[in-house]
Amino acid sequence: MPSVISTDVLIVGAGVAGLWLNARLRGQGYSTVLVESASLGGGQSLKSQGIIHGGAKYALHGALTGASEAIADMPRRWREALAGTGELDLASVRLLSEAHYLWSPGTLAGNLTSFFASKAVRGRVDQVKGDQLPPALQDRAFKGKVYRLAELVVDVPSLLARLAELAGDSLLAGQSIEPLLENDRLIGLRVDGREIRAQRVVLSAGEGTADLLKALGLEQPAMQRRPLHMVLAKGPSLKPLYAHCLGGGPKPRITVTTHPAADGQWVWYMGGEIAEAEGVAREPAQQITTAQQEVARLLPWVDLSHVQWATVRVNRAEPAQSGLVRPDNAFLAEKGALLVGWPTKLALVPDFADRVFAALERDAIKPGEHRPLPALPKPPEAVPVWEQLLP
Ligand SMILES: Cc1cc2nc3c(=O)[nH]c(=O)nc-3n(C[C@H](O)[C@H](O)[C@H](O)COP(=O)(O)OP(=O)(O)OC[C@H]3O[C@@H](n4cnc5c(N)ncnc54)[C@H](O)[C@@H]3O)c2cc1C
Repeated sequence: MPSVISTDVLIVGAGVAGLWLNARLRGQGYSTVLVESASLGGGQSLKSQGIIHGGAKYALHGALTGASEAIADMPRRWREALAGTGELDLASVRLLSEAHYLWSPGTLAGNLTSFFASKAVRGRVDQVKGDQLPPALQDRAFKGKVYRLAELVVDVPSLLARLAELAGDSLLAGQSIEPLLENDRLIGLRVDGREIRAQRVVLSAGEGTADLLKALGLEQPAMQRRPLHMVLAKGPSLKPLYAHCLGGGPKPRITVTTHPAADGQWVWYMGGEIAEAEGVAREPAQQITTAQQEVARLLPWVDLSHVQWATVRVNRAEPAQSGLVRPDNAFLAEKGALLVGWPTKLALVPDFADRVFAALERDAIKPGEHRPLPALPKPPEAVPVWEQLLP
């Protein structure tokens, strides 16, 4: 019979939200257990593009929105953490790009004028030319305008590896989760038959949170899934590019990030409009053809003859909203000892952790006295999607 464990905060779901929160709690002296049923970050986190948005993309509408305001502080928080001087020491995490770029391939003057007139981007955006252009756009045939946004792009595999390091002995591989009740109050969870008592339980299981709530007999908070059909390309001719390519609408036509593969080649990872509704409806082969045509139109100088292609379907998990509107904040709901949430963006995980800390402070939940944890079975690290699909 496995031993009974007691801890301050029991977290379920080791994506970037659970891992970041776990590291911050441990840094503040709380004892924690973080349960993961699959692999560390293998859900949405490792399939994300790693852009630390500061809200500029959302200001494409030409007006300041809630999103522009709420998210505006996140690049600073991340920058400090990555420098080793912030709320977590992430100095060992690889930064893929100091900037994300906004790239207007044609004549989109109207759209850009309103965009640059908005306060959200004033002072944060500079036009770049010549050898300051992203390497993939440095070609004589390149036309169009490129602006540099003060938004970082992080290497998510190295971020997850560092957060797993900061988790110390708190990680637990666990499949079956049942509520642990005392007088009808939640006092912890039974994980694979092992009792884990905790002052607070946090569900940060992304898409898995819906089933966990069901297992706990709860219907709220409701969540929504936003399906995406992303495209990957790997080849010797691909050079780094981190950019939203504008198409005239409020959403980027295509958002490209570039990731290092284990064999030394670069992988382009493409989302944006191409991966949304119409892209979701396409079969993988059609989606690849669409992406090939798009790249050939936008970057005709890139030799695609030795490029390998793949697609990946993934759902974004978010709190339910009418009309599938993009949420613009981390979300946290509370019910007694249970806290449930979604960061809604990788960039917003500091905000997610803040919300949990605010709930702990309000309820005067302090680090308690606990016996050291026994040796626990550990969840495996996840393999990046390009290594799985384009080995
Ligand atoms: C294609 C794509 C691109 C994106 N690009 C960006 C971007 O560039 N910038 C940005 O800011 N955001 C981006 N996002 C959003 C971002 O990835 C997510 O908001 C973030 O990763 C969510 O983290 P999470 O930890 O909540 O969820 P997840 O990473 O999904 O983690 C949840 C974890 O819970 C585990 N789990 C599920 N059920 C259980 C259970 N019953 N028991 C135990 N564990 C369980 C899962 O296995 C998983 O490891 C992107 C998302 C997608 C899909």
